[in-house]
Amino acid sequence: MKSYRVFLRFILIATLLSKGGSTVQAQSGDQILDGIGETGMIARYVFDGNLKDWSRNNLHATAGRDVTFINDKRFGKVLSLSGEKNDFIQIPADALTDMESLSISGWVYLRSEKKDQVFFDFGKDVQKHFFAAPFGTNLQDGFQSLITAGKNNQKGAVSPALLLNKWIYLTIVVDIPAKKMMTYVDAALVGESQQIPRELTEVFGSSGDKNKLYIGKSLLAGSPTLDGLLYDFRIYRVPLSKNQLTGIYTNSQRGVSNRSVNVTKVEDNLPEFPLTQTQLYNAYLVAVPDVQVETTLGDLPRLPSYIKGIYKEEMVGPKVRVLWPSPNDNSTVLEAGRYTITGRVPGTNLQPKAIVTVKGGNKATAPSLKLAAFDLSQVSLQADAQHQETKFIENRDKFINTLASTDPNSFLYMFRDAFGKPQPEGAKPLGVWDSQDTKLRGHATGHYLTAIAQAYASTGYDKTLQANFAEKMTYMVNTLYELAQLSGKPQQAGAVAVADPTAVPYGPGKSTYDSDLSHEGIRTDYWNWGLGYISAYPPDQFIMLEKGAKYGGQKTQVWAPYYTLHKILAGLIDIYEVSGNEKALQVATGMADWVHARLSQLPKETLIQVWNTYIAGEFGGMNETMAHLYRITNKDHYLKTAQLFDNIDMFFGNAQHTHGLAKNVDTFRGLHANQHIPQIVGSIELYQVSNLPEYYRVADNFWYKAVNDYMYSIGGVAGARNPANAEVFTAEPATLYENGFSEGGQNETCATYNMLKLTSNLFLFDQRAEYMDYYERGLYNHILASVAENTPANTYHVPLRPGSIKQFGNPNMTGFTCCNGTAIESSTKLQNSIYFKSKDDQALYVNLFIPSTLEWTERGVTVEQKTSFPKQDDTELTIKGNGKFDLHVRVPSWATKGFYVTINGKDQKVQAAPGSYLKLSRNWKNGDRITLKMPFQFHLDPVMDQQNIASLFYGPILLAAQEPEARKDWRKVTLDAKDISKSISGDPQSLAFKIDGIDFKPFYDTYGRHSVYLDVTLK
Ligand SMILES: [Zn+2]
Repeated sequence: MKSYRVFLRFILIATLLSKGGSTVQAQSGDQILDGIGETGMIARYVFDGNLKDWSRNNLHATAGRDVTFINDKRFGKVLSLSGEKNDFIQIPADALTDMESLSISGWVYLRSEKKDQVFFDFGKDVQKHFFAAPFGTNLQDGFQSLITAGKNNQKGAVSPALLLNKWIYLTIVVDIPAKKMMTYVDAALVGESQQIPRELTEVFGSSGDKNKLYIGKSLLAGSPTLDGLLYDFRIYRVPLSKNQLTGIYTNSQRGVSNRSVNVTKVEDNLPEFPLTQTQLYNAYLVAVPDVQVETTLGDLPRLPSYIKGIYKEEMVGPKVRVLWPSPNDNSTVLEAGRYTITGRVPGTNLQPKAIVTVKGGNKATAPSLKLAAFDLSQVSLQADAQHQETKFIENRDKFINTLASTDPNSFLYMFRDAFGKPQPEGAKPLGVWDSQDTKLRGHATGHYLTAIAQAYASTGYDKTLQANFAEKMTYMVNTLYELAQLSGKPQQAGAVAVADPTAVPYGPGKSTYDSDLSHEGIRTDYWNWGLGYISAYPPDQFIMLEKGAKYGGQKTQVWAPYYTLHKILAGLIDIYEVSGNEKALQVATGMADWVHARLSQLPKETLIQVWNTYIAGEFGGMNETMAHLYRITNKDHYLKTAQLFDNIDMFFGNAQHTHGLAKNVDTFRGLHANQHIPQIVGSIELYQVSNLPEYYRVADNFWYKAVNDYMYSIGGVAGARNPANAEVFTAEPATLYENGFSEGGQNETCATYNMLKLTSNLFLFDQRAEYMDYYERGLYNHILASVAENTPANTYHVPLRPGSIKQFGNPNMTGFTCCNGTAIESSTKLQNSIYFKSKDDQALYVNLFIPSTLEWTERGVTVEQKTSFPKQDDTELTIKGNGKFDLHVRVPSWATKGFYVTINGKDQKVQAAPGSYLKLSRNWKNGDRITLKMPFQFHLDPVMDQQNIASLFYGPILLAAQEPEARKDWRKVTLDAKDISKSISGDPQSLAFKIDGIDFKPFYDTYGRHSVYLDVTLK
């Protein structure tokens, strides 16, 4: 069994390497090579001639005085610090926030044995700081590393002093869950200390901006500065393992340039359980019946992830999770006939079979669009039945109020900069991924356009706020319009200009295209950029990408130009749709024409190669946006352009379209989650406008696999240990425990934003309750849970390893990552999927039980939903107005204790199966009241390949153990096998529970250390 797995893994790695050549192609000096994953990295200073941060966080360092680089025979150019007073390096004060743990690694060459010299010293003062002293301090001999929050009598980790005049690779790892610090010299462990603070915030605070972060200089006044050489200094927010730091050590020995990545084996740093040990309800399992499945020629069958099992002792257990093999192509179903697939049930010897009948010849069909969402302005959130603000209102207001106070000029700053225009007085640039040198600048502006459009549409309850957002929209659009109007046109009559987007020349004085966005290096010759061009940088990144440029920090490299553009175009279209602003549409179509001109001239092979390039080829939902423009304008070339973004390998397997997601083959294993989910959202939009069923099937098949085979209990889908990247899908489906739970974090929040968008779009075509079950799970347990307690700061990853803690960023909306960008969208449209209607206005769907008012203006009907759900397990709908229509109410899959309906106080006899929609048809009268009661129950949601590791839910609400401190192992709980609620005490009305003396609260109300997954034993 074991060797078989190793063999499988070997094949898999080989597949990854051959398939995604570009995925794993190294950029020179690239951290991706070390197999740690970029989200684990805070900053990296190579020091090979500059003080730039080579991570994507732009934490560029500064020098105390003129800085010296010298040539070194081992590493080439390196940083030289003289030991003189002001010769040291400082990094931005806010670098040390958002950390689970902390690791520092780097090369140092020491030229003096003075005590009190430091490799680095980070902290508030000499009481609260973290340092490493190669020759010790006046109080301690030897190589000393210490992290302290001001406690006395601490030594930290001590080992013999380092050697002089020799390159040494130093690593200091502060592992908070393991409660220890380790120091390594040339990747060998030399020192260890258990005297470390319980949380890094005790040392660095929570905002971090009061810290001094020095390299080569001590916080202790009068200490000597470092006399030595430095190379490749890195800061990680994760505890580097021995394997990982050894990897960095050996890679830098060999020199890193343009090699394939070393795909490291999974670090088995999660507790392991014997393969033969039965877990959870499987201990009571007697048999799992075989299933019969039909499919059509060429399509892999959709096998049921859950099958009703037979349990001993007349026990009523949950449906059984069955793991099926997942082939890489459709070769098993190319002939009509019958074949058998053998599955397995983890922790048992049971091998249920699926008998598959392959039928010939049926032409693929797909459902048509039946439903429509309501405009945001038609649905408003209300206080709950106790007149308390709900979490939805709290989060909405945090975002709306902060958005209202933003200065649009910050979001226009880099656009004006790109066009060489002066900034209005007082305008401040954004930081993080929109700062001067960042090649993603402008991405936050796109999210901002969408957010203010949604905020405008959602604030009908407050006319002052609404006017504020109206003004912001107009100002943003007018400015972008004026800039876009300049592109490709002469500055004055008779001057030269290049109107053709395909004829953009090099920048003035340049001999190539480059992505230099510095004050000195940026080109601003907008008259040469082709008609319609708009972005927060010149066109070079788009052109370089076509010519094969890769992702990276150098001038010859790009970030993700189409990803950024998608946000901008989507934002403009959103403003057009909520306000009818024609200029917004003109800016969008002008740039869409520019894109069409360039991409339509490229060979298909080039497009396939470009879209498969790691990060650089990430294009967000460009296909969605171009299809959307086609829907608005009916101009064919937008539809054609949308299709130029087809991810052919993932959608169709290959250029011949022989398999892929369209044929239900999992082609996204191991890929970047948030790079690919928006492409699937685009696929469903493409289906809507083109009617080509394969686009629908791509989206439908993807959704089923993502939710069943890659999902964590909060609804997130990313977070692999293998491949070692917290942002990607696991290397193989249904292996979350084996390959997921990345140490760098899991559940990138923007990926869930996109999953929700995909889910509600699919539901408009096919009213399967499982879609809205997922939507509810992701909305309550990830999106609501991703916002800080008192500000709109929000999460990037939401880590779910034992004793994790959420980290929130961007409280003032001054510096955005991808997830900060989607957060301002998510929390300004929280009401958008509570209700849907049929396109012909003959039916209403109630999907979610959130206190709210629906103005169904098309029918002259208002629906008021009054409830304190989820602090109450019923809801009341009151109809105002009259008319005959079908009311479809969702019967959640978790509602296994019944679903009870009354109309005007009278019990209704209904057949309401969990996981369905119940239709109530009637000629509704003004004042009709419908109550829906769905008693909650406790239930477990196990990890598919490790059943004893499970999350506890109460109804739809994920309950998290409130942990007193960080921990390495899963929290163990023992629950009653026949009825787990017997082991749980507490108060359903406040959703506060206890198991064995430990508090459990909704995850969306959890801000401290938490355990979302438990190691559950049934007794
Ligand atoms: Zn993100």
